[in-house]
Amino acid sequence: MATYARNPVEFVRGDGTRLWDDDGNEYLDFLTGISVAQLGHCHPAVVGAVRDQAGRLMHVGNLFYTEPGVRLAKRLAELSLGGRVFLCNSGAEATECALKLARKRRSGGEFVVMEGGFHGRTMGALSATPQESKQAPFAPLVPGFRVVPRNDSDALSAAVSERTAAVLLEPIQGESGIHPLEPELLRTAREACDEHGALLIFDEIQCGMGRTGTLWAHQQLGVTPDAMTVAKGLGGGLPVGACISNADTASTLEPGDHGSTFAGGPVIAAAANAVLDVVTED
Ligand SMILES: *Cc1c(COP(=O)(O)O)cnc(C)c1O
Repeated sequence: MATYARNPVEFVRGDGTRLWDDDGNEYLDFLTGISVAQLGHCHPAVVGAVRDQAGRLMHVGNLFYTEPGVRLAKRLAELSLGGRVFLCNSGAEATECALKLARKRRSGGEFVVMEGGFHGRTMGALSATPQESKQAPFAPLVPGFRVVPRNDSDALSAAVSERTAAVLLEPIQGESGIHPLEPELLRTAREACDEHGALLIFDEIQCGMGRTGTLWAHQQLGVTPDAMTVAKGLGGGLPVGACISNADTASTLEPGDHGSTFAGGPVIAAAANAVLDVVTED
């Protein structure tokens, strides 16, 4: 379907910061596959892990454990909020899981999101993405989303109540431009959520995975969320996402509440484990 305005260039090979097209032209890649290839293209650790795992086992489904998936979930939890992890296939799916987690915890609760935010293209994630051009053709959207102006602490405070399931924010908005949210706003969000028993959820799909110099952007901002979403750079080029909870919210979603056929499969998880090795050790 004609969903992308593609450039008339066909790439055939990548290595580190370089790409080559089918005419042999070499490019220095400043786009990194839209915030995905932060280890560069075809990093040997990722390629090796994928080759190895692909020859051993590619899929069993989530009725069973596989070692790469369990290790990935454990590491993501230990490196962040200490709770549990739902592995998925994309950023939008990580958002969907976060929304379901918050809605289940506070039945019928509303979501507070911010002007300029982006959380994905599926109907729930799109409802959390207050951009007229993206939302309008698909109305009616999922009900229960309130939008506050960017960096307006008073408006944010006023929007959060005992009816709020969650406040969902990108610590650095990455799709509407590059807009770091003010630390004061993030502190206000934390306080409002604590006061009213709502979840604070950070979307680190674009700003996380080492992109700001710490593993997660919020580590530099002095505010810790209750749950967070990760994707884009996590798979080193393969599709993987994760919704990570803290210990308090770890048991909210129970067997049967959510699922995905392919999510957290061994090849993808092996790639993500290799990415985490490089980002955390190198
Ligand atoms: C890219 C992005 C998403 C959506 O991720 P997909 O993998 O494209 O579904 C969500 N939030 C942010 C901040 C993003 O940059």
